[in-house]
Amino acid sequence: NDAPIIYADNAATTQKPLSVIRRLSNFYAEENSNVHRGVHALSEAATAAFEDSRKIIAKFINAQSEAEIIFTKGTTEAVNLVAQSYARSQLKTNDKVIITELEHHSNIVPWQIVKEQTGCELCIAPVSTSGEVLLEEFEKLCDERTKIVSFSHISNALGTINPVTELTKIAKLCGAKVFIDGAQATLHEAIDVQKIGCDFYAFSGHKAIGPTGIGILYGKLNLLEEMPPWQGGGDMIEKVSFKGTTYNNVPYKFEAGTPNIAGAIGLAEGIKYYSTIDLQSAKEHTRSLTKKCEELSSCISGLRVIGTATNKSSICSFIIDNIHPNDIGTLLDQQGIAIRSGHHCAMPLMEKFGIKGTARASFTFYNTIEEVEQVFKAIEKARKILA
Ligand code: PLP
Repeated sequence: NDAPIIYADNAATTQKPLSVIRRLSNFYAEENSNVHRGVHALSEAATAAFEDSRKIIAKFINAQSEAEIIFTKGTTEAVNLVAQSYARSQLKTNDKVIITELEHHSNIVPWQIVKEQTGCELCIAPVSTSGEVLLEEFEKLCDERTKIVSFSHISNALGTINPVTELTKIAKLCGAKVFIDGAQATLHEAIDVQKIGCDFYAFSGHKAIGPTGIGILYGKLNLLEEMPPWQGGGDMIEKVSFKGTTYNNVPYKFEAGTPNIAGAIGLAEGIKYYSTIDLQSAKEHTRSLTKKCEELSSCISGLRVIGTATNKSSICSFIIDNIHPNDIGTLLDQQGIAIRSGHHCAMPLMEKFGIKGTARASFTFYNTIEEVEQVFKAIEKARKILA
């Protein structure tokens, strides 16, 4: 609409630096080959670049070994992998899985499927009116029947940053395995899976300045070794015969078929880019964007922020009296501003707040204070038109 674009939909997906775009393009133009199978130079180079990416990602989240990094399509596939391989094979009727009210559908539905398959119980830890997990309630739910606890690091719908180390500690006291959905966390928090103490951690490349169609599942090596394969096919086998098949080592046991080679290489390039910026100042900068959102949102008549946790990322979810969130999104788009409106794949959370959806502006380290100001100016303009 002849206005310079302001991109404030980073919780849905982030933009990509030129280095990532060039790395992808260069791979396809100059290096394209399949991995793990060829003896020719191109295949060896592609395999080396693909496996180097695994090492870079392992270092990024402080995994003990690169064997603990499984390439997936994204967070969704990672949750499904753990649900179908680990949970389905381990859980019985009397066992419990705990998730929280904050979860994205991709951290709800796979556990509902496991519930149907195994007869286990699925318990939901409640959140407060500000959108924070109620620790006492969470603790009460955790008992000797609890086998898996799964929660997001940061809520995509509200921006709440969960106290993941504390939640993990509580879950571990009852012997449960902990899965963390880190889809929203990679650009906001330094991730150290060993310090957190979780068993599984997942994130998506496209929300971390990397390509779409690639993500990772981190799993503790001993657990991954015990888990049965999830999908069968090439690369995940050691030997195949019609009498039976033996499986490859971890992580390849979980990577059936040709992987997203360029995606993995592109994701590592994004992490390299991110590692060259001063993370402390990036964090302080995003914190100042969050503060600016808080300040400016309080100046708009009839605007209610949904999700007011003390520890929040730069996601601002809101509703305005008598105005549909989609109308706000459309009027902002007419002013060149991209935000998201709807239920943000968190229908149960919306139901909890008694709303159908919100308008959500989500910022990241490359957004500016001026952009936040422009967004709120545009929201005020939209409010006046729609009121
Ligand atoms: N979990 C959270 C918190 C998310 O925000 C998202 C995506 O919006 C997902 C999981 C699913 O990620 P993907 O669609 O990349 O698999």
